[in-house]
Amino acid sequence: MTTSLVPESVYLSRISRAQEEMARTSVDALILSLGQDMPYLTGYLAMPLERLTMLVLPKNGKASLIIPQLEAPRVQQMPNVFTLVPWGETEDPVRIAHTLLGNAQSIAVGDQMWSRFLVDLLQHRPESHYVRSVVVMEALRSRKDIAEIEALVAAGAAADRVAAQLQGGLIPLVGRTEAEVSADISARLIAEGHQKVNFAIVAAGENAASPHHHPGDRVIRHGDIVLCDFGGTMNGYCSDITRCVHLGEPPADIAQAYSVLLEAQAAGVNAGHVGTTCENVDAVTRAIIDKAGYGEYFVHRTGHGIGMEEHEDPYMVSGNTTLIAPGHAYSVEPGIYVPGKWGMRLEDIVVATADGPVAVNNANHQLVVLEQ
Ligand code: ZN
Ligand code: ZN
Ligand code: ZN
Repeated sequence: MTTSLVPESVYLSRISRAQEEMARTSVDALILSLGQDMPYLTGYLAMPLERLTMLVLPKNGKASLIIPQLEAPRVQQMPNVFTLVPWGETEDPVRIAHTLLGNAQSIAVGDQMWSRFLVDLLQHRPESHYVRSVVVMEALRSRKDIAEIEALVAAGAAADRVAAQLQGGLIPLVGRTEAEVSADISARLIAEGHQKVNFAIVAAGENAASPHHHPGDRVIRHGDIVLCDFGGTMNGYCSDITRCVHLGEPPADIAQAYSVLLEAQAAGVNAGHVGTTCENVDAVTRAIIDKAGYGEYFVHRTGHGIGMEEHEDPYMVSGNTTLIAPGHAYSVEPGIYVPGKWGMRLEDIVVATADGPVAVNNANHQLVVLEQ
């Protein structure tokens, strides 16, 4: 399965950038299996099988893709990018990896490799030193190139269109369950161009106080705040947006809290200048919510990186001193959650550029009031 119509030259340059990072971080070899690092470098996404698929990239020289023989036909071959190494049913693929690794001392391992394969490899080469692949890949994956940014913008625009349908009252809410509305939003994400829906949280009234509420059989009523947080994958890149609507005029406490949330989220978006820290983006939103007296109700980090995965580096969280760089793409999504009563969150995806932060999402940021 290829992720998109990416030209071979892009993969070649990504491989050589990975090798530069390996030299810089003193990593001798990179081994990847499940997850998005491998398709980022090769275009091939491994299926979560009991048979091993593994990319072995040495610090110098060519990458090898170890693959079960029966999966080999699915690989779009790019002999300049990697050598295909199919293995038969009676072979030991970990031994093949061990051989390809040669005398590599420091090995960076993908986060999502099954432990059964890593444990086997450890037995083959107990003397090697192992680190996480993020050491090599974060610098590449977190800074999106132009084609990646275009894909994120297109996915964001598609999610915005669904948000506009919600805010325009085109998605019936009153009298339907959260689960029904979630299915409706999911269908609209596909209709607007996503290939896959990753989540569609719909949380009404008191359920909105749980940030990752699972939409259920709660029937939506007039007087509810309805939090909708949804996203999918379009041409290999993810969307993610949160908007809240209120069914009927909101009571004073909700209107008041929302004005604080609106201000905090806008300040967080505007804080994302190149050279500031990721933790500063979090601090900026949190300071506004704290000052207004809602600090105890903002129970999560401000945001996460986004790209081929919904949640990836860099995270906008206290303690992350990574400097924002051009091409960083991440969410800014503060929330206020009052247990047992209501909750609210406002989320946009932002791309950092030399000229300042650019929001990918432009759907109305207000708490839209719907009369249904
Ligand atoms: Zn989330
Ligand atoms: Zn979200
Ligand atoms: Zn998010």
